[in-house]
Amino acid sequence: MTVPPPRLDSKLPDVGTTIFTVMSQMAHDHGAINLSQGYPDYDGPAVLRERLQHYAGNGYNQYAPLAGVPALRAQIAAKVARCYGRDIDADTEVTVTPGATEAIYCAVTAVVRPGDEVILFDPVYDCYDPAVRLSGGVPVHLTLAAPGYRIDWDAVARAITPRTRLIMVNSPHNPTGSVLEADDIAALRELAVRHDLIVIADEVYEHLVFDGRRHESVLRDPVLAARSFAVFSFGKTYHVTGWKTGYCVAPPVLTTELRRVHQFVAFVANTPVQHALADFMAAHPEHLDELPGFYQAKRDRFNAALAGSRFRLRPSAGTFFQLADYAAISDEPDREFVRWLTTEVGVAAIPMSVFYAAPPGERVVRFCFCKEDATLDLAAAKLAAL
Ligand code: PMP
Ligand code: GLN
Repeated sequence: MTVPPPRLDSKLPDVGTTIFTVMSQMAHDHGAINLSQGYPDYDGPAVLRERLQHYAGNGYNQYAPLAGVPALRAQIAAKVARCYGRDIDADTEVTVTPGATEAIYCAVTAVVRPGDEVILFDPVYDCYDPAVRLSGGVPVHLTLAAPGYRIDWDAVARAITPRTRLIMVNSPHNPTGSVLEADDIAALRELAVRHDLIVIADEVYEHLVFDGRRHESVLRDPVLAARSFAVFSFGKTYHVTGWKTGYCVAPPVLTTELRRVHQFVAFVANTPVQHALADFMAAHPEHLDELPGFYQAKRDRFNAALAGSRFRLRPSAGTFFQLADYAAISDEPDREFVRWLTTEVGVAAIPMSVFYAAPPGERVVRFCFCKEDATLDLAAAKLAAL
């Protein structure tokens, strides 16, 4: 007897398994050094992990309050004041979420209605476009031009229509490592106000900015902050991507809408993790100040090792990603190149084309340098030999 399947029209028929999972699996299967998916091969701070054990071992294992553990929200508010000079209300403007991904999904879902247009910038992080489409929105993909990957604000102005509702920016930018400058923030503010747009600012790499730069958070700007969901991730900042905990800072009107969705998507984030993070943030504020130097040293080490190679490196001003042009090594499209690199050379990378609605056909891959120095040295030696 054949069992009939249900009628099913996929809501995301063109979407396969995320490239990060595909490449990490390939790296695992072939024993390759994994410079593909962005996660460290070192642990979060020992004190932080000890605090998690403490809370998990001492009865902090039931649901947290909907908005997040108050002690953690207070630490977040203090951090926003210290880093961005902005006083926020921890009760009405901060929501702790199971990762930045969930915050982004809930923010999109909260504001996008069928037919609303949402401006995105390719290369774009992979969770934005599907979230927009699942809400019936229309993603409008603009392009960041290589090698600087700056936003062309005149092109943004031309792309805005009466249906434009939301603009999604990411700085420091995954996968390119570009960052928004103060004049970008001014241009964003001007267009957002003129056209009454809402902004989602994905700032998960806020502390990973190099060469003395300052992270230009939308939270520094009172006008932009009043119409933005600013999204952050503890995973990047404390080297604990697997803890899947992040947060969204937004004015009360937007936070109310975010929580209306969040309460039915996840309801809350992980309780003992939130307590552990609150303790660690209170005890070790210097951790944030050390991050830029920590990652800049890794970028410089990796890049120096590749300097004499046939890869041409693009500038990386932030994040823990490095783009590399491999046109001098191979004519293969990037998906084939990373397969070869992983299976034959032993180093996994991410093909750049996956971040585009219409890939430009460049020969570019993304390497992740949040790895032990020994891992980076080993990988770079293999890459430099090509
Ligand atoms: N946005 C960007 C640009 C990212 O690189 C990541 C990292 N995976 C996320 C959002 C999601 O962060 P989280 O793991 O906290 O959901
Ligand atoms: N943000 C990480 C990256 O860009 C991966 C996160 C994920 O796998 N969803 O590699």
